[in-house]
Amino acid sequence: MNPTVTLNEHDGIAILCIDAPPVNALSLAIVARLRDEVRRFAANAQLQALVICAAGRTFVAGADAREFSKPDFTHESFGDLMREVEALDRPVVAALHGTALGAGLELALACHWRVAAPGTRMGLPEVLLGVLAGAGGTQRLPRLVGAELALDLMLSGRQIGADDALKAGLIDAVVSGEPQDVGSSFARTLVERGAKPLRTRDRALPTPGVEEVLSQARAQVNKRAAYPAPQRIVQCVEAAVHLPFEEGMAVESQLFDECRRSSVSGALRHLFFAQREAARLPGIDNSVRPRAITKVGVVGAGTMGGGIAMNFANAGIATVIVENNEVALERGLARIRDNYQITAAKGKLSSQDVETRMGLLQGALSFDALADCDLVIEAVFENLEIKRDVCERLGRICKPGAIIGSNTSTLDIDLLAEASGRPADFLGLHFFSPANVMKLLEVVRGAGTAPDVLVTAMHIARTIGKVPVVSGVCYGFIGNRMLESYLREADFLLMEGASPAQIDRAIEALGLAMGPCRMLDMAGTDVAGKIVLERAKAGSLPADPSYRAVVVRLLESGRHGQKTGAGYYRYEGRTPTDDPGFTTMCEELARQHGIARRSEISDAEIVQRCLYPLINEGACILEEGIAYRGGDVDVVWAQGYGFPDHQGGPLFMADQLGLPHIVQTLQHYGESRGNAFGYWNISALLRGLALEGGRLSEQRAP
Ligand code: NAD
Repeated sequence: MNPTVTLNEHDGIAILCIDAPPVNALSLAIVARLRDEVRRFAANAQLQALVICAAGRTFVAGADAREFSKPDFTHESFGDLMREVEALDRPVVAALHGTALGAGLELALACHWRVAAPGTRMGLPEVLLGVLAGAGGTQRLPRLVGAELALDLMLSGRQIGADDALKAGLIDAVVSGEPQDVGSSFARTLVERGAKPLRTRDRALPTPGVEEVLSQARAQVNKRAAYPAPQRIVQCVEAAVHLPFEEGMAVESQLFDECRRSSVSGALRHLFFAQREAARLPGIDNSVRPRAITKVGVVGAGTMGGGIAMNFANAGIATVIVENNEVALERGLARIRDNYQITAAKGKLSSQDVETRMGLLQGALSFDALADCDLVIEAVFENLEIKRDVCERLGRICKPGAIIGSNTSTLDIDLLAEASGRPADFLGLHFFSPANVMKLLEVVRGAGTAPDVLVTAMHIARTIGKVPVVSGVCYGFIGNRMLESYLREADFLLMEGASPAQIDRAIEALGLAMGPCRMLDMAGTDVAGKIVLERAKAGSLPADPSYRAVVVRLLESGRHGQKTGAGYYRYEGRTPTDDPGFTTMCEELARQHGIARRSEISDAEIVQRCLYPLINEGACILEEGIAYRGGDVDVVWAQGYGFPDHQGGPLFMADQLGLPHIVQTLQHYGESRGNAFGYWNISALLRGLALEGGRLSEQRAP
């Protein structure tokens, strides 16, 4: 449906209604139409007041941020519209419902009065997209609610509800009813009492304590130096405090544009849209409905099983946890209770909530307890024979139409699907640890997975607050497959003479939460080392005896990371320190594998050697159709692997660095290091895009 803007008259009151589904986002075209209608109102002296409202489920939920990247985008028309609305000589009332966010709230701020339906949520969340409110929001909000709350809302991007907004002076009334009816009766009262326009721009900003508030805000944003918007939001509020309104508007306008053009905002916008897009399933039309999920089963109450079960209990879904022995079951349930109690101790959960959630979790020692579940997820030991047996039993016990998921990280989903005897009902559900906290869920579609099973998985993922991304079947799916080449190079660099601290520092300087050595020490080098050995046994590794030799040696020498007090580092508590014993180990490995050691390895080489093969692997994943879209790969890394959102994910970062540069660098390492095992083979897709000037992050699988 095409967006419309209509101006109707009812008894001397004009109703300006925006109808642009789904969320009435303001595009440049809608802004132009609004301005025309506002001028029509201005020119018609018969009309006594104006109500601005929106149709459908919400008021204006923001500007259409997709337009920000267009070469001809200018934001001035937004600010001008707000000025014209505010300057009108008769009362203007914004009638809000649903959400009034970003440009939507800015429009409301420019109106002379604001009424909201109960439950309306308001905010200026632009900071989450790396920008700031650029249509007067930074100047008007502090004038209405004071600098402190304005800064809080704009720096966090959080929303506040109607009752709090009323208390804060952001709105004038909370009234139930259809927005246009509520707006007109409010406007009628204003007309009857001869009210004159109350313009936000003319309000004096409350100043007591404001310098202290500003200085605290400056200190807060200095800690977020990688993001340009927060600092500029504070500058805008300083302008609101110290300068006349129009001068403040000029500051805001310039700073908005600086933010919009920044690569950080580009990165955040990319991830925002990629995350939404990731929920769409190409080739499956909207008529495919999800299956109902009212009861869930989890097999295995270990690290992952417990966390997975908590997700469902948190969403109010009854969940059965099945273990194969009493001790493991009791331990698993006790760990879940402990987890909830820790949250309760922080005041984030009431003791009643803890009991309600525990009440939804039922422990069992027999698979029979799974017979009436709509979805069963297995999270038993990562061993093909054990998992095959479990899947085969689930295939026999689960009711017809039940969905069976596996949380395997490394095993072939199609083999497990076959073992279940129900490949259409089977898929991978790869949660990340801690499973009750991490947002990412890789949904792995097997060769036989039915479309409605995939649709159900995406649906239930959102119900439990996850960000689902679909992956095809391959070793490691999207995330761990890319991680493999990164960890491979980290181990080679260590054998060549780099220290764990140098590698981690170089990677963390890009903004990644944790470098590879600290990460493996935390996860356990035993787990990682065993996977390498398993793969070697299965013949699925390159025939290179030095492949990830460091992690294997750490496993064999009992240096299992933080939990044993030593791994890549030595630990005092959780603090890592360099360990001469580790250096000696790397020297020995280098000798054993004929690897030359160097005294100087640059940080630039570390970044290129670790990250560029990972990017190349991402391109292979797209080329093979394992991921649907480049954006999906970036979402996996931002949500599951601590990749900094201000870099937009590895593929977006590659686009920023320039694909020709990535290709040349991969080629360089292939030549200088030799390519006997194909480590430096370059994806045809990546080569092609580098030649054509295309972008990996915008690429769709063939
Ligand atoms: P874990 O060893 O902590 O837990 C496994 C549990 O399964 C144990 O409590 C065990 O008693 C139980 N179990 C084994 N066989 C069983 C059977 N036949 N019936 C019922 N229960 C049985 O392991 P984990 O770390 O929770 O890993 C479980 C799965 O999750 C593995 O497939 C692993 O690859 C995957 N995974 C792990 C992580 C992680 O970071 N730990 C991340 C993603 C995926």
